[in-house]
Amino acid sequence: MMNFSPELRSQLLTPQLIWFSLGHYYQITYQEAINIKIDPWWIGVKVSMKHELLDMPEQCFSTVISYQKLAYAIANFFGLNASNCGIISRSGNLATVRGTQGNYHCTTGSAGYTCTCKLYRCMNNRLVKNGESPQLLKALKRTELYETHNGQPQIRCHHLLILK
Ligand SMILES: [Zn+2]
Repeated sequence: MMNFSPELRSQLLTPQLIWFSLGHYYQITYQEAINIKIDPWWIGVKVSMKHELLDMPEQCFSTVISYQKLAYAIANFFGLNASNCGIISRSGNLATVRGTQGNYHCTTGSAGYTCTCKLYRCMNNRLVKNGESPQLLKALKRTELYETHNGQPQIRCHHLLILK
């Protein structure tokens, strides 16, 4: 079992994201994915569910998603969500971004990347600062969600993606 707090799980190990990672490979519908069991392991995230489409319903569908695959799925998912966001105002390093659940204040550039949304705060506090799931953070470093700025690690939520 990995060190994933309930808060980080609720943001990055959601049925929606798992479905986004592998639904098209296994022809899982989103409705089916809601019942998926998600266990973060050292080597990856184990997901399992009873696959109703199988001849033997008691047979469990089970696979392990690597952290790299999950990181790419997270980045793609944020990219999709970013397309539903809009920049309300931008001045220097400060911006206000409209998301689906409200407006958020962001900083960019020399001020570093920050956002007032819950997703950003959770990822920055737990993944970057507290070192929960170092495997996932390492994998996210290969995506556009991560960069270092003045030697400081920066993580991006979907609001910050559109300010890139
Ligand atoms: Zn945000």
